[in-house]
Amino acid sequence: MSSPKYIVLTAQKTPETEYDCACPDMPVTLTATPSKHEEDCACPDTPLKITTVPISATPSTHSPLRLTPQLYTDTLPHGYTLAFSPYSPAGPSVLNRAAFARLQAFQTPQPPVEAVDFTLAAQNLLVPVDTLPEMAWGRVSTLTAWLHVTNACNLDCPYCYVRKSTAHMSEATGEQVLDRIFRSAVQHGFQTVKLKYAGGEAALHFNMVQHLHHYAQSLATRHHLDLQAVVLSNGTVWMPPMAHWLRENGVKLMISLDGTGAAHDAMRPTAGGKGSFAQIEKTVDTVLLPAGIRPDISITVSGSNAGAAADAVAWAIERDLPFSLNFYRENALSADRHILQLEEARIIAGMRHAYQVIAAQLPTRPFMNGLLDRAQMDAHTHTCGVGQNYVVFSHSGAVHQCQMQLANGVSLPVNTDLLAQVENGKIPKISVDEKDGCRTCLWRYRCTGGCPLETYRATGRYDVKSPHCNIYTALFPEVLRLEGLRLLKKAGVLPA
Ligand code: SF4
Ligand code: SF4
Repeated sequence: MSSPKYIVLTAQKTPETEYDCACPDMPVTLTATPSKHEEDCACPDTPLKITTVPISATPSTHSPLRLTPQLYTDTLPHGYTLAFSPYSPAGPSVLNRAAFARLQAFQTPQPPVEAVDFTLAAQNLLVPVDTLPEMAWGRVSTLTAWLHVTNACNLDCPYCYVRKSTAHMSEATGEQVLDRIFRSAVQHGFQTVKLKYAGGEAALHFNMVQHLHHYAQSLATRHHLDLQAVVLSNGTVWMPPMAHWLRENGVKLMISLDGTGAAHDAMRPTAGGKGSFAQIEKTVDTVLLPAGIRPDISITVSGSNAGAAADAVAWAIERDLPFSLNFYRENALSADRHILQLEEARIIAGMRHAYQVIAAQLPTRPFMNGLLDRAQMDAHTHTCGVGQNYVVFSHSGAVHQCQMQLANGVSLPVNTDLLAQVENGKIPKISVDEKDGCRTCLWRYRCTGGCPLETYRATGRYDVKSPHCNIYTALFPEVLRLEGLRLLKKAGVLPA
């Protein structure tokens, strides 16, 4: 009798979309089984990774396996089932009827026999009887640095944390900052330096961005390090030569868009009170895309514009642009703007509407990491690289742990070791496994308890779950479902 045809679809790693916090890019592969997956499932640039409990890659090992605890399932079209557990190394898996039946057979622990058993074990849907996968330190390969090129901006967004002025980074300061970054990268064994050119509006000082980047290129060459870079921009001042420079130098671009038309204009007006959407649209369609630049679209979702997120998503999908939906973070300059606050029902409704738009158009490019604020689908334990492999430089060269701290102007005490300097800042390195309320959460290794600064602002503690936990828990199942549908479409089960 022939064995059933098992199909297990899963994305091994989920690429990052650009947003302002510190997270890396990751390659992705889509695998349909039966076949055995590689075991290294962790994001290469994430400080911590999940370690699959060693299981022999050959059926000669007969240690009994059992169904993972906290198995989450959802029914998908055409008889497929989405399966996920806190220990899944990447996102969810999608199983056909035969594979799901085989998975369920392990409600009675038994040794792995068939190839599909090892595939399910590689996804930690099957785990050893007497132990569980454990999070373990992985190698950190990327040092990410925010370079606050300028305080100047031609927009006046109500949630901005930058005290606007004409002050900007000088060439001498920028070079000293870059010298420190690369010295630290070499000292601590990083392989890659990632630079975020930001402001204010960094493109207003594009000559400085170019100068800094060329200087960084020379340092990267001298120290045999890889260099990645992105300009974080409001998207209003780009000209064709600037776009060509980005392409020639492999520098990415992230543009903020908080809706379309009047909804965006209300969130991101010019300093003179006019709208900026029309200019951004024109820039993307007539300058960037013709030059081969596909900007990442960063959508900040607040109580004020939650209903507009879906339009921004549709706008990005229409142009085949990566996008991310990020939650507004209250800061010292925006605290009195109560309309921006994340009122749960409104945010959930707005995000659901955006997800409906995604489901209707369903890109096949991986998009899960951009769907729910800082949630990342590869298993990890810390929300960002703060205090570990992320450092923020003000225009004057002062060091901060996080760009949100630029608003209060309080920088870190001087330390010749850059990483020790950020490690000793106020934001502690707390794993999600140490956060009250998170330790047994199904979503803990995707959410990791949310932005630590936002949690501290709301609770006065870093070691508790996010104030937006209800939003996250309401939306995670829908994020997983979108990924399940994407995998089915990518595999040709759903029509293109
Ligand atoms: S904040 Fe909530 S959803 Fe996030 S890990 Fe903690 S308990 Fe889970
Ligand atoms: S502390 Fe919050 S805002 Fe700052 S880098 Fe981390 S997640 Fe982003």
